Amino acid sequence: MPAERLALVFFVDALGWEVVRDNDYFSSVTPHRWRQRTVLGYSCAAQPTILTGKMPSEHGHWGMFYRAERSEMRSLRAFGLIPSKISNHHRFRRQVLKWHHRRSGFSGYYNLYRIPWHLFARFDLIEKRDIYAPGGFVDVDAPGPARMPEAPITVSSIFDEVAARNIPWRSWSWKDGFDQSFEELEASFHGDDRPAFALHYTPYIDGFLHRHVGDREAVEGAVRKVEDKVLHAVEAARAVYDEVDVVLFSDHGMAETAGSHDVMATVAKLGLAEGRDYQVFYDSTMARFWFENTRAEQAVRAALGELDCGAFLTDDDLKREGVYFDDHRFGELVFLMNPRELIVPSYMGGRAPRGMHGFSPDHEDSYAVLMSSFDVSPAPEHIRNSFDVMMKAARIDR
Ligand SMILES: [Zn+2]
Repeated sequence: MPAERLALVFFVDALGWEVVRDNDYFSSVTPHRWRQRTVLGYSCAAQPTILTGKMPSEHGHWGMFYRAERSEMRSLRAFGLIPSKISNHHRFRRQVLKWHHRRSGFSGYYNLYRIPWHLFARFDLIEKRDIYAPGGFVDVDAPGPARMPEAPITVSSIFDEVAARNIPWRSWSWKDGFDQSFEELEASFHGDDRPAFALHYTPYIDGFLHRHVGDREAVEGAVRKVEDKVLHAVEAARAVYDEVDVVLFSDHGMAETAGSHDVMATVAKLGLAEGRDYQVFYDSTMARFWFENTRAEQAVRAALGELDCGAFLTDDDLKREGVYFDDHRFGELVFLMNPRELIVPSYMGGRAPRGMHGFSPDHEDSYAVLMSSFDVSPAPEHIRNSFDVMMKAARIDR
């Protein structure tokens, strides 16, 4: 018996509340909408929160890379022997990434960005498994943090929930192309094995806003392009299924870049030895430090404490945001830039993109959105509630 009803979920990365607030995007299929608070961090923290309904300190994913004694990424260290003009070229890095994806068997999302090669010996990847399928978080034999005895990960994602109930499901993620994924989604509605739960993720708006945020006309064109695809897919589903519940949400917004600071240079001037005195990971909006001695910590605290482009987060801040880890795997001390100010250069890139996210969740440009064809109560005002809304759409009671 093919499924008679469909929970149809669209995940539009970086479709912020500020972009949709004054527009009627998607309203013909999803008349209900809520502003949602996001989590502190990037998509690699927000997406697991949406898919599990848990905060990063519960599902274990915050930064893309965490400090590890024995990193499973360490083979990449060898590329540091190649002259940096070649080994840091983005085309070279892209080839290495493809090769590494095949060789490692890691099915999660990751990128090498401009991370210094030698650091892959000390930093490991958190998302080794495909989080858009069952077993993304729960398998204790999984490589990486799931194996850390002090923090066993036993979190179910929406895919574990539907699979456990034998609900036929399909998903499209960052691995799939824009046009093709929408075509495949519609094609999946036909046939005896059609899904009762379908989640379609697209990174299209995220990529677009990184380059064009602030250009109203261009942004509207991009969102309408996604809207066309979504409306077409919903119509196709309604022609086949007796009942279709539609949910559309994002993970965070996008802020237009206003300035930057060379935090790496500020730290380099302190005369400390990276590795011996301290360890650091420079994200685009956060610098995460580990210290080998108090002299190093005091010097970094004093130098960055003077900057007005950002501030250190306290452990209480991290706990309040649900990103505190007892083992400090993502950093002992975190410096967060002010909204719209970037760390440039960072391990993410040498230039400031026009738009970025990963600032305080309280900033207006950080907010995400959830829209649905049905009313939801209580209001899903945090991105972790997107999990509950998907459960509701899939008619799963817990
Ligand atoms: Zn992004």
